[in-house]
Amino acid sequence: MSGAATSLGPLDLRRARILVTNDDGIGAQGIRLLAKIARSLCKDVWVVAPENEQSAASHSLTVRAPLRVARHGPRRFAVNGTPTDCVMLAVGQLLGDRMPDLVLSGINHGGNLAEDISYSGTVAAASQATFMGIRGVALSQISRPQHPVKWSTAEHYAPDLLRRLARQDWKRDVMINVNFPDRIASAISGIEITNQGRRRQIERVTESFDPFGEPYYWIGSPRAEGSTRRASVSDIDATARGAVSVTPLNLNLTDRATAAKLRWSFR
Ligand code: MN
Repeated sequence: MSGAATSLGPLDLRRARILVTNDDGIGAQGIRLLAKIARSLCKDVWVVAPENEQSAASHSLTVRAPLRVARHGPRRFAVNGTPTDCVMLAVGQLLGDRMPDLVLSGINHGGNLAEDISYSGTVAAASQATFMGIRGVALSQISRPQHPVKWSTAEHYAPDLLRRLARQDWKRDVMINVNFPDRIASAISGIEITNQGRRRQIERVTESFDPFGEPYYWIGSPRAEGSTRRASVSDIDATARGAVSVTPLNLNLTDRATAAKLRWSFR
């Protein structure tokens, strides 16, 4: 890794090495599909993913327990850890001397929009790649509870989208967050470059009582997405109107405007 360069040049996908991971676990339908998509782009595809579901694991890292790797096949490994662990192990051990050129995470069962980005294990794997100087893309298929997931929408749009992203010059601190709307492919309005949205309210906590009268709490409940403005360019709004949302995320969280203001007032 040359730390000095501020961007990663365009990638020749046919000669690339791709690492595929996720947070839903190595057996999930979404990662099988993503590996298939990756193999349609290049020959050198590796899958290193959590043994079990790690959704909402965010960027957690296992540092107080041993990690074990199970080989599931050629270039295919399961790890008893988080998505971040998987990227670290893949790059540090399993892939040998050659780094991946691109890390694809997903395809998540469910969207990763707005505040979800902070909790998402899917996004964390792609951001871990970015921290290591590798291009990272998180992909999520939005779905509704008790409805079949429209995987064919992601399958239809992802290959060309990834080819187009690979041709770009990538800023080093930036990863790409992709969300496919809950619509069939023929009903998709297009691809929109969006901003991270913000929901009107954060997750609700529900209180209930167990058979012994003790309270218990459940985080998360079905919620209305609540768009802010019409024609807004947020990930929430774009997917609500049927577009594939592509959001570049800067992983340097400094707010430059506030820093400048504080420097002024702390003089
Ligand atoms: Mn998940």
